[in-house]
Amino acid sequence: MALLQISEPGGKPAKPAHRLAVGIDLGTTNSLVSASCGGKIEILPDDDGSYLLPSVVRYRADGEIIVGNEAKQSAAKDPGNTIASVKRWLGKSQTEIAASDHAARYQFDPDREQQAPALVTAAGSKDPVQVSADILRSLVERAEACLKGKLEGAVITVPAYFNDAQRQQTKDAAQLAGVKVLRLLNEPTAAAVAYGLDSKEQGTVVVFDLGGGTFDVSLLSLRQGVFEVLATGGDTALGGDDFDQALADYLRARIDKQASEEASELVVLHQYANQLKHDLGENDSVDIDFNGYRGSLSRAEFADICEPLVKRTINTCRRVLRDAGKTTEDIDNIVLVGGATRMPVIREAVADYFGKAPLTDIDPDKAVAVGAGIQADVLIGNKSSDDFLLLDVNPLSLGIETMGELVEKIIPRNTTIPVAKAQEFTTFKDGQTAMSLHVVQGERELVSDCRSLARFELRGIPPMVAGAAKIRVTFQVDADGLLSVIAEELSTGSKSEIQIKPSYGLDADTIEQMLQASHEHASEDRDIRALREAQIEAQQIIDAIYAAIDADGELLEESEKASIEAAIAELRGAMQESKPIRIQELSEELNRLSGDFAARRMDLHIRSLQGESIDSVEPIGK
Ligand code: ADP
Ligand code: MG
Repeated sequence: MALLQISEPGGKPAKPAHRLAVGIDLGTTNSLVSASCGGKIEILPDDDGSYLLPSVVRYRADGEIIVGNEAKQSAAKDPGNTIASVKRWLGKSQTEIAASDHAARYQFDPDREQQAPALVTAAGSKDPVQVSADILRSLVERAEACLKGKLEGAVITVPAYFNDAQRQQTKDAAQLAGVKVLRLLNEPTAAAVAYGLDSKEQGTVVVFDLGGGTFDVSLLSLRQGVFEVLATGGDTALGGDDFDQALADYLRARIDKQASEEASELVVLHQYANQLKHDLGENDSVDIDFNGYRGSLSRAEFADICEPLVKRTINTCRRVLRDAGKTTEDIDNIVLVGGATRMPVIREAVADYFGKAPLTDIDPDKAVAVGAGIQADVLIGNKSSDDFLLLDVNPLSLGIETMGELVEKIIPRNTTIPVAKAQEFTTFKDGQTAMSLHVVQGERELVSDCRSLARFELRGIPPMVAGAAKIRVTFQVDADGLLSVIAEELSTGSKSEIQIKPSYGLDADTIEQMLQASHEHASEDRDIRALREAQIEAQQIIDAIYAAIDADGELLEESEKASIEAAIAELRGAMQESKPIRIQELSEELNRLSGDFAARRMDLHIRSLQGESIDSVEPIGK
């Protein structure tokens, strides 16, 4: 496979492209900036030649803002003013932030509870957007120094499951830092861009991205440089940090508890655990010497400590494959992204689950930034966008409420967008001239178990018998995820339309919970759907028979009428007792019983039609 050339730290970027745009991987733990230099994408290093900028900001009393390594080093001595992993807090309220595990060492301004979150630092209150902006500003300064010019824009990557609020705050941070956002790009998609551009191979690829604080899995189909995202899944609260935490907890149980309660001690312990984790990548066993505790830790012991975390990553992979209807045998390549995929325990688990070794050709730290840089180069106009096309998927099924409060899915979950799908519906009642449409999102069968997105009405349906009108409902999702629902009555062309943003107010946890619930309730949902459908069909038969009796009741013998009514009563009983199979049997029985009556009505109508035609012919004959 042809690979991208990436400069190593300290490598001098070649001539800048004529328009300056960068790709930014704004990571929870580390951030990077890349740009196209002399036709290839380079990761831009700082003055010391290092390309990773730790996403850590320290606010000093004198107003100085320190970003990166220096801030990270000072975390232990000044924990309250040194903010790390701020990306986890984007889009969250102060109450949510203060309750999170990562907030213990910070102070929050209690007066600000109802507004934007405010972290109290020596340099005043800061919110997550401001902290993120300081990280971005540092990257922009680095890029402008490297490229010797003013930036025109940036592609910034975000986790696939970032919700609208989190995406918006990322954009706000960029604006605050004075950089124009050309596009927000999902991180796993960016990694796929980095791997796929020079590749002419076909295949199905899994991108496994385990960073410091987030985990994303994407299933992509790759064809001639065209990527299609078949399915995505992830966990916004799982990353390398959790492996540090697990190891720190293990160490804490073995050292002096009292001393380790101090905030600064916790930071030191965390950093120590982080170092051990890294060292275990190179060594089978490491020595521990911390706060008077001496011991050693083997790779196998470390694997035991983090087994639950590793299992969670593999379970997510399993879910993503299931969503896309694929098995591990369908996967041609697995791409590892994110610093935490350097851990042998992860590589082994991934290789074990997929039955083949993952690709690691591109430095897992750089892949996302490289992809963002490539995309930035296209968007700023330095490169033809025909080169590749990025497609996305909708994370939850979109559908419409039908009779019996059931959901008819129009666009199933994980359908590639942009997409348009239409389905025909009809009226339930004779003479019905309006129809109410309820757009819902989710995987469950009952409307009450899904998210309600919008309601609107279609009017101007000409009065017809139930089931005769044809109403076409079209669901259209554009490339930005915006949903348009159009309902049209086909004989008159009466139309009604609504636009919705299905991702509004939806976060990763909600999606996860909704998927979980749909798996848990799958069989119960199937049963309720079968019951409701049987009930609706039975009701339609009963309604039709009553309408027929109203119109042509004289065609019925008293005894016939009595037996039909008895059958209806029995069917209604079964409907109330919620027995779908019995309802179906009794519906068939009722159809059979009323068959003669229906045949007589048909006869009568044909005769009257013939009579009519004779009548209408007569005048001509005269
Ligand atoms: P993010 O995308 O969240 O910013 P990164 O992709 O930079 O994160 O990954 C950071 C994580 O990778 C940290 O938890 C770090 O400890 C871990 N990491 C980096 N290098 C190694 C290594 N050699 N062994 C184990 N973990 C590593
Ligand atoms: Mg990352």
